[in-house]
Amino acid sequence: MRYVIGVDIGGTNLVVGAMPADGSREIGVHTLPTRAVLGADAVVERIREMVETTIGTVAQETGATRAQFAGVGIGSPGPLDRERGIVIVTPNLGWKDFPLRDRVSDAVGLPAVLDNDANCATLGEAWLGAAKGARNVVGFTLGTGIGGGLILNGRLYHGASDVAGEIGHMTIEANGRKCGCGNYGCLEAYAAGPAIAARAREAMARGEPTVLAELCEGDPARITAAMVYRASDRGDALAAEVVKDTARFLAVGVANMLNVFNPDVVVLAGGVALAGDSLFVPLRAEVRRRAFRPAVDACQIVPGALNGSAGMVGAVAAFLAEHPVA
Ligand SMILES: [Zn+2]
Repeated sequence: MRYVIGVDIGGTNLVVGAMPADGSREIGVHTLPTRAVLGADAVVERIREMVETTIGTVAQETGATRAQFAGVGIGSPGPLDRERGIVIVTPNLGWKDFPLRDRVSDAVGLPAVLDNDANCATLGEAWLGAAKGARNVVGFTLGTGIGGGLILNGRLYHGASDVAGEIGHMTIEANGRKCGCGNYGCLEAYAAGPAIAARAREAMARGEPTVLAELCEGDPARITAAMVYRASDRGDALAAEVVKDTARFLAVGVANMLNVFNPDVVVLAGGVALAGDSLFVPLRAEVRRRAFRPAVDACQIVPGALNGSAGMVGAVAAFLAEHPVA
């Protein structure tokens, strides 16, 4: 049996683990803070240590030797140049034109493949998660930002220069809110975690009563999307309205994807998707109102199933897509 290591690089945490090439299980999965402020070299060193820890765990549990490790798949925030293995720029990590793939490959002495983190998460869900077996999948990763991935005819679609799948930056309001990317009206500017918190703060500032005032201990700056969901679950009208609006904004994005790509499955993963039915029920209803009927009827809109490990699992799958292992 050959093993592949998956590395998922987030702004907050690194997740590293290994899987046999048949995807039958996850071994040695562990998480450490990224500590991007210490610089790119320190992050690479941390990844090297984590990969060694995982190799040790796999060896212990399965008796595998080092020769049985085929390589490392790496999921990183982008934009990036896959062919050259370079991260072009990551505001969250502060990297610019960083040759991440080769630096990790040299550090661990194994071949490596680099892909976008949200592409990897989508690939993970399509391989072993909520979209298992589907040929055409659109993945949304909802968190501090909104990432996305497109799987068309069973393969990740990267486009001409690896930008494809940036569905958080589709414009949903032509003259809308300013987005971190510089555009106005991006989906991310409405439905990412910080945008949800911002909309709740704005509603509070209009003087509507809400338990959020108590949950944030009088400091609106402390409001998070998770707090808004908690308040909504407790029957708070303002928070429920914010969640409903979030569902509506996301539905615009999902409906656009349905009409353009006609997917079998749309997976919504990440923290913002944890709202469950209070998000998914109005979202599905709004998508049905907006998208073409045959596209709606053919598509399941589901939460992610792999939670914290989708990116790691997908990084393994991204490696295997480039280096098929017998
Ligand atoms: Zn944007």
